[in-house]
Amino acid sequence: MSEYLPTIGLEIHAELATSTKMFCDSKNDPDEKRPNVNICPICTAQPGTLPVINKSAVRHVLRVGTAFGSTLADYSEFDRKNYFYPDIPKGFQISQYKYPLVSGGTLNGVAITRVHLEEDTARSQHGSTGSPQVNGDFSLIDFNRAGVPLMELVTEPVMHDAKTAGNFARELQLLLRYLGASEANMEKGEMRVEANVSVAKREDRQDDSLITATKGNDTEFVLPDLAKLGTKVEVKNINSFRAVEKAIEYEIKRQIEELENGGVIVQETRGWDDVKQRTYSQRKKESSHDYRYFPEPDLPKLKLSEVPEFSHEILRASLPELPWQKRERLVKDYGIKAEDVEMYINDFELEIFFGSVAEYLGKDKEKLKIASNYITSDLISHTSKERQDHDFVMYPDCKMFAKLIDMAYKGDLSSRGVKDVLAIMYKSPGDPEQIAKDKGLLQEHDEGELAKIVDQVIAENPNVVADFKSGKQASLQYLVGQGMRLSKGSANPTLLSKILVDKLG
Ligand code: ADP
Ligand code: MG
Repeated sequence: MSEYLPTIGLEIHAELATSTKMFCDSKNDPDEKRPNVNICPICTAQPGTLPVINKSAVRHVLRVGTAFGSTLADYSEFDRKNYFYPDIPKGFQISQYKYPLVSGGTLNGVAITRVHLEEDTARSQHGSTGSPQVNGDFSLIDFNRAGVPLMELVTEPVMHDAKTAGNFARELQLLLRYLGASEANMEKGEMRVEANVSVAKREDRQDDSLITATKGNDTEFVLPDLAKLGTKVEVKNINSFRAVEKAIEYEIKRQIEELENGGVIVQETRGWDDVKQRTYSQRKKESSHDYRYFPEPDLPKLKLSEVPEFSHEILRASLPELPWQKRERLVKDYGIKAEDVEMYINDFELEIFFGSVAEYLGKDKEKLKIASNYITSDLISHTSKERQDHDFVMYPDCKMFAKLIDMAYKGDLSSRGVKDVLAIMYKSPGDPEQIAKDKGLLQEHDEGELAKIVDQVIAENPNVVADFKSGKQASLQYLVGQGMRLSKGSANPTLLSKILVDKLG
C-alpha cells in the first residue's frame, strides 16, 4: 500500500435537454452546426432585456435530486457570478451560489454536495489565417450555446481512486439519459467532468480526519475533514470517461512525485492533454470571492414548495425505473452475469429483446443464461454491423429466437450450429428448426442412436480402446472423432464422449 492516500472530488456539468434556453425562448439545439442561429436579444445580452426562468430546466434538476435521495430546496434563488470573458456576453453568468436546488444525496455510494442550475457560455474558436496578408490571428464566437441550461453537480471529496471516479461519471451519464435530462455525451461536451485531486500522507489521514455529517434524506455520511487533506488541483478539458481515469491517475502520480522530491503542490487549474497523456498548468485557481456573487435582481426568488408539480410525491412518481433498480431486477429475475446486465442497462432495445425472449423461455435460469450469452455475443455482433449502415437495428422474431435457444439447450444444435442458424435468421426471418434441417445442422442426441455408433467405434478400434483402458486419455479424443465421422458430423460430441466413457468403464 502506498503511503499516500489520494482524494478526489468531481464537478460535473451537463447540458439539459430542454426545448428552449435557460432564460429565453431561443432554441436549445446542441446539434445545430450553423453559428449564431439560435440567438435572441436576451442570450446575447442586449441592454434592457430581462431573463425568464425555464421551468422544465428546474424540473430536470429536481428529478435528478429526487433520484439521488437528496434534499430539494423549498426556497432557491439565482446569483450573478461576475467575470469577464468574450464568451460571457453579460459580463456575468447567472448561476446559483447560496441556495442550490439540490443538496446531499448519493450516487454509486458517493456523497453529493449539491446540484445547481446555471447557463452555459458561448463557444469561442481561436484560429489563425496563416496568411501574412490577412491580419494574423482571429477569434470567432458562436452564441448558439450561450444561455443553454446547465446543471452543475459537485461531489464531496470522498473518492480515493480513478476507477471509482470514472464509474461515478458513467453512472451519472446513465441516470441523466434514463431521466431524459441530458444526452450527456462527453465527446460532444454535453457532459463535462472536472476532477479535483489531492494526495496526503496516510499517517496524516487517520480515522480522526473523518467527521460524520448528515446529508440528504437522513443518510449518514462520513466526510473527510478538509483541513487534513492535501492541496487540491483541478483538472479540466477531459473529454471521455477513459480520460477521467487517466487524468486522475496521472495527477496522483505527479503530486506524489512532487512531494517526494521535497516540493509543494500549488492550488491551480490544470488541463488534460489527451495526446501527450499528461496534465499541464493553466492558471492559478481563483476562489469564490473573486466572482463577487450577489443575488440576480432581474429574477424572482423561487418558492419551490409552492409549485404543485414540484411536490416531492409528483416528482417521485415521475421517475422511470432507474439504472440501479433495473440492475437489481435483471439480476434477481434472470440470474445472468454482471457483464450481460451492464449491456442491457446501457441498451434499452437489447434489454427489451432479452426480456421478450425470456418470456418465451420461462423461468429456467440455464436457458436464460444460454439466451443471454448468444444475445450479448453473437446477436450484438450482427446488430452493431447493421448499426453502421442504418439508423435503426432489426432484431429477429423473439419467439423464433427463443425456439433457437431451446434447441441449443436440448442439444439439437452445436454452438457452431446455433451461430450459423442465427446468421441466417438475422438476414431473413425463418423457423430455426427448418433452417437447421435444410442446412443439415441438426445434431443427433438420441442416446439410443448414439449408443449404436459408439458400439461400432469400439468394435472397429480395438487397439485404441485398449490404450484408453490403460489410461491414455488422448485416445478418447480419437474415438469421439471416429464417432463424429460415422455420424457424418451430426452427433452431439459431448454426449458421444459421455456414452463412450460409460461403455468403456
Ligand atoms: P472551490 O471553492 O475551489 O470550487 P470546493 O470546496 O467548492 O472548492 O470544492 C470543489 C470540488 O473540489 C468538490 O468536488 C470537492 O469535493 C473537491 N475538493 C475539495 N477539497 C479537496 C481536496 N483537498 N482534495 C480533493 N478534492 C477536493
Ligand atoms: Mg467550484
